[in-house]
Amino acid sequence: MIDPTSDIGEDVDESTAPTCHTCGKKIMQEPNHRVVSWVDEGNVEHLHFCDDDCHADWSGRRPR
Ligand SMILES: [Zn+2]
Repeated sequence: MIDPTSDIGEDVDESTAPTCHTCGKKIMQEPNHRVVSWVDEGNVEHLHFCDDDCHADWSGRRPR
């Protein structure tokens, strides 16, 4: 359901939603959404992860 009068930050829809770098899932206001950003030669790069598990998988610290 879409409520155009609600204002909860960004206007996110499926076509502009970021995708998880690890699993490719669309991130639609995931409460556990993680963003990693850094600056590479003057450009800001960032990766999105849907939760800690995907972030840990990418960073090589996956808990066993
Ligand atoms: Zn994921």
